Amino acid sequence: MERVNEAATFAARKGFEAGVFSQPSIHKLAYAEIRSRFGLSAQMAVRAIGKAVECFARDKTVCPVFKPHGAITYDERIFSFKGLDRVSLWALPEGRVIVPLVYGEYQKQRFDRIKGQADLVFRKGKFYLYCTVNLPASAPIQPGEFLGVDLGIANIASDSDGNRHSGSEIKSVRHRHRRLRTKLQKKQTRAAKRRLKQLAGSERRFATHVNHCISKQIVAEAKRSGRGIAVEELMGIRERVKAGRKQRAVLHSWAFSQLRLFLAYKAALAGVTLAAVDPRNTSRTCAACGHCAKENRKTQDQFRCCACNHEAHADINAAVNIGRAACKPAALGELCKMSHGSVKSRRL
Ligand SMILES: [Zn+2]
Repeated sequence: MERVNEAATFAARKGFEAGVFSQPSIHKLAYAEIRSRFGLSAQMAVRAIGKAVECFARDKTVCPVFKPHGAITYDERIFSFKGLDRVSLWALPEGRVIVPLVYGEYQKQRFDRIKGQADLVFRKGKFYLYCTVNLPASAPIQPGEFLGVDLGIANIASDSDGNRHSGSEIKSVRHRHRRLRTKLQKKQTRAAKRRLKQLAGSERRFATHVNHCISKQIVAEAKRSGRGIAVEELMGIRERVKAGRKQRAVLHSWAFSQLRLFLAYKAALAGVTLAAVDPRNTSRTCAACGHCAKENRKTQDQFRCCACNHEAHADINAAVNIGRAACKPAALGELCKMSHGSVKSRRL
């Protein structure tokens, strides 16, 4: 891992200095030297160059320096599973090594579907092999009804059945970290900086875990009741400028995009139709009588209709509107782009 990362940094520098950023052009410049200098196998050298190229694909203005224990990619030529509990990996100094591995129930069931590449990741003293699996998406059912889901910040997801999946666990972790973070930021030492990074990482992983749980529950409920799932469509840039406070906040949150993505692929795998509806007015329209007015929304949480006095939690009221909007023919025509077929792979 350390040699590959050194080699990737070397390849990046060679390419950067020469102003070339593609696999073949950096290969020409650096391959032979990588082989002799870092003692890598042919395919490992190719992978090291690939790491630099991938980085340049995102940003050509900086020359990356890779961390000694950054993730490295293995492909079929340099790794293979040997039965259920062993993996053969190319490693220094002697070439192939057979490494025993452990995995959970979920991974076991999908073992035969592992495809192509795997990332070797080193975290907290342990090695992890991240594999990609291909799962066939079930044929979507054409639903007559939709479970409306309102995605937000205060409540991560609220559905039209009246369930609110709050972000309270995430918030309490964030809160716990905040004081520690302020303290660390004042310190400016290298150890403090490292600790800050760790905190950010653990927060992110926890939020990902929560997103997995929430999306799983929503998809399971839609599947069980034979309904589709409706979410608000993400708006284009022009509308975004005019968007309300909630929409703006939501659009900038990676956790929000991740939840949408999780919903999309889990729905596709389960054969649940996902529809995206126009987000305008979903939060100010009364789910009982259809009266639409800004004044209906009393506070962030509270909805009370000025026309019929219908009262509900604002997010739930919005979720009902979203579910209903998806049943209209116009909305069905706009079936979400991220829906079926496009999301088949996921990481274990
Ligand atoms: Zn009303």
